[in-house]
Amino acid sequence: MIPYGRQDISQEDIDAVVSALKSDWLTQGPAVPEFEAAFATYCGVAEAVAVNSATSALHIACMALGLGPGDWLWTSPLTFVASANAGLYCGASVDFVDIDPVSYNLSVSALAQKLSDAEKIGRLPKVLVPVHFTGQSCEMREIRQLADQYGFKIIEDASHAVGANYLDGKVGNCEYADICVFSFHPVKIITSAEGGMALTRSQVLAELMRKLRSHGITRDPEQMTQDADGPWYYQQLSLGYNYRMTDIQAALGCSQLRRIDGFVARRHEIADFYDHQLRELPIILPTRFDYGRSALHLYPVQIREESGKTRRQVFDGLRERGIGVNVHYIPVHTQPYYQHLGFKDGDFSEAEKFYARAISLPMYPTLTDKDLTKVVAEVKASLS
Ligand SMILES: *Cc1c(COP(=O)(O)O)cnc(C)c1O
Repeated sequence: MIPYGRQDISQEDIDAVVSALKSDWLTQGPAVPEFEAAFATYCGVAEAVAVNSATSALHIACMALGLGPGDWLWTSPLTFVASANAGLYCGASVDFVDIDPVSYNLSVSALAQKLSDAEKIGRLPKVLVPVHFTGQSCEMREIRQLADQYGFKIIEDASHAVGANYLDGKVGNCEYADICVFSFHPVKIITSAEGGMALTRSQVLAELMRKLRSHGITRDPEQMTQDADGPWYYQQLSLGYNYRMTDIQAALGCSQLRRIDGFVARRHEIADFYDHQLRELPIILPTRFDYGRSALHLYPVQIREESGKTRRQVFDGLRERGIGVNVHYIPVHTQPYYQHLGFKDGDFSEAEKFYARAISLPMYPTLTDKDLTKVVAEVKASLS
């Protein structure tokens, strides 16, 4: 089976993990700050806080921005559940902004309309989480303008967009956002097995998140409420968690980061091949935008009605032929947990329309040219 996504682990990656295992530190050693510094430099941002997942990063980012009961977090319905759950962890309420049918990202015009309506009833969001779906950045300049107008904070969910660009900079430079979050799960662009990172230009937010990832504890005498009892002393100043990344994971992350540009370049070759080979078929191909180079985490196609096939038929046909396709995503508001909160089918119709026809084709750097030829042949066969 050719899967829809998988990691690419080199001998250097293995050597990096082995040397972390042989070092004095399996966790809380030098590899985590090294990974943070290298990742911050790569993205062009001052502060990086490594954690054990993007989910944890989203949670502590929301906490650092003061999200709590009575507040609202808005995000896209076309995302992994974690983007929305982070708001619920903080006791806040969650709502969604429908997607744009071409970019599949949160629609800026739908956002503007919803903000104007929300202002009238005094229910503006405290935090917006734009998700860079498939690795293509949202229109952050326009979203920033709305944030300035309505006074909400922005956490980019850039889990798909490690190595992507937006306008003249890297996604993660936080030019338009308060905090930007990445995932290093094995299906994503680079991996640390499990892992995530929160980036920010604000030293204050970074310090808050560093405390929150480790029980709310500080060992910095300047942050303490009284003089230290001795060199062993630490203080718990807030209620935090154990969301730390290990040195083993960070060593893998550092090694993978050195290979990131090659990973993204190969993903672009694969997308170019699919764009060219699949263009005559009764399917809608994803659009890439000049305003930002996508990291191409996913390559979703939509099965057109005139193909005479349902999404289910094409999906089953491809799986039977050894192509491990997948579907991204079941719109979050249609999940039973969210329906219990009051959301209904039909609430966000563009996301639902996309979901009804979408299939993610295999997309990862170790796909060979032979694999790609097979994928294209099987897509054609499953549609005929
Ligand atoms: C993968 C993913 C997450 C969660 O990442 P973890 O590192 O597995 O916690 C969050 N949001 C989006 C959009 C994702 O794709």
